[in-house]
Amino acid sequence: MSPTFRSDAYIDGAWRADARRFLVLNPANQSVIAEVPDLGGAETQQAIEAAHRALPAWAAKPAKERAAIMRAWFDLMIADLDRLGRLISAEGGKPFGEAKGEAAYGAAFVEWFGEEAKRAYGRTIPSTTATRRYVTIKQPIGVCAAITPWNFPMAMITRKAAPALAAGCTFVVKPPSQTPLTALALAELAEKAGVPPGVFNVVTTHDHTADVGRVMCESPLVRKFSFTGSTEIGKKLGAACVGSTVKKVSLELGGNAPLLVFADADLDLAVKGAIASKFRNAGQTCVCANRILVEDAIYDAFSKKMTDAVAKLKVGPGDQDGVEIGPLIDQKAIEKVERMVGEALASGAVALTGGKKHSAGAQFYTPTVLANVTRDMRVNTEEIFGPVAPLIRFKSEDEAVAIANDTPFGLAAYFFTKDVNRAWRVAERIEAGMVSINDGIFSNEVIPFGGVKESGLGREGGVEGLEEYMETKFVNFGGFA
Ligand code: NAP
Repeated sequence: MSPTFRSDAYIDGAWRADARRFLVLNPANQSVIAEVPDLGGAETQQAIEAAHRALPAWAAKPAKERAAIMRAWFDLMIADLDRLGRLISAEGGKPFGEAKGEAAYGAAFVEWFGEEAKRAYGRTIPSTTATRRYVTIKQPIGVCAAITPWNFPMAMITRKAAPALAAGCTFVVKPPSQTPLTALALAELAEKAGVPPGVFNVVTTHDHTADVGRVMCESPLVRKFSFTGSTEIGKKLGAACVGSTVKKVSLELGGNAPLLVFADADLDLAVKGAIASKFRNAGQTCVCANRILVEDAIYDAFSKKMTDAVAKLKVGPGDQDGVEIGPLIDQKAIEKVERMVGEALASGAVALTGGKKHSAGAQFYTPTVLANVTRDMRVNTEEIFGPVAPLIRFKSEDEAVAIANDTPFGLAAYFFTKDVNRAWRVAERIEAGMVSINDGIFSNEVIPFGGVKESGLGREGGVEGLEEYMETKFVNFGGFA
């Protein structure tokens, strides 16, 4: 059964039923789920102005009052997890259980940041002279704008909106054109929770994405811009923000996560972790293990266990019971995976399982394990964003770390070992914003999520995530006798 949902945009506390609309498709069967307003730069400007008008009253509320409204928003999300899960699954393709998990994960940011903003403490700084006293105070940065991707239609929005609202900022988001409905469901619940008009706005678009982005980046009313998506677009938008109005920028960009399995690892745990990391959302997350590096001595044993487990993964539409791997988001995505696997096979890689599209439908790909992968292949150098696990052999810890770091990206990295000294050593040597040892899943609301190198700027989640939406103001009390 398809869930009920809002399909109009939400600006200044009003639902905008504009006539110019675009289609939202179900990636499992390409059926039309809804038609959503295709807004442009002018409507984005209206949303920013609404956020600007709403800012003083929202920022002036004590953190405790904002937290009470956010708690109500969170409670409504939790009461609505089934519907949110169905919506995320219908427009994004992920299996319902995984989609409901995303809804709970997304809601957790709203609860946590509402609470945390009560503790947005400044500092007193010991003075350098007898006549002065120094303090810092934390203040909301102002109107925030955000652009988010389709692979987490809910969590990528709440991870930005929750710290923004908690800090006292107001917020305008442009959701991805493939998955705008979850964003509108969040607006519906925000309205019910008592979030005042103008504080949370959703500008949907399809044909005017670049215009919407330009207005957000160039508007002097917007003081903070946060983007999650590809490195290519992130670089352009980041440059536009700094070049026009020097606004604060957070960029959560692409990854190319290595997952290292050392000979001393618990192999069953490593296989479980590799599958959890690689095949989540059919391989379409920025922290998915992109390439799996396996030590020579256990390569054969690991690849056999991994292949057996991957061959059992159930593929199908997200609303079907027991499905673990849904469709890819669109035709372009499936073509990219086919191309990358085809090139690897032509260059000597071997498909231990999979290696082709799946009969479940036009956008399904069979979960794949590739052996004999070499460092020059694109499946090693580029983000695959599909259910394909390339295995690369290594002979020493130094070689493994060198392969892991041989990329312009540095978002997540994983490794499996029972040696505690190696655990410290490798965790320190790997160039990534997040390192997970003996575990394929780590993301939640309390940790600082983000990357180094071309994987981005800033952190989302945790105390660091709140900092991104506040300014630290220094105040000098002078003239003491
Ligand atoms: P994308 O093409 O960069 O799209 C992401 C968002 O940017 C969408 O809302 C898209 O809007 C918008 N966009 C595209 N072109 C734009 C432009 N010229 N101006 C303004 N906005 C523009 O990325 P994607 O392929 O959909 O998403 C996957 C990427 O996101 C992967 O690289 C993945 O690693 C990364 N990601 C990173 C994180 C992280 O936390 N680091 C998390 C999730 C995903 P339309 O939908 O309207 O095109």
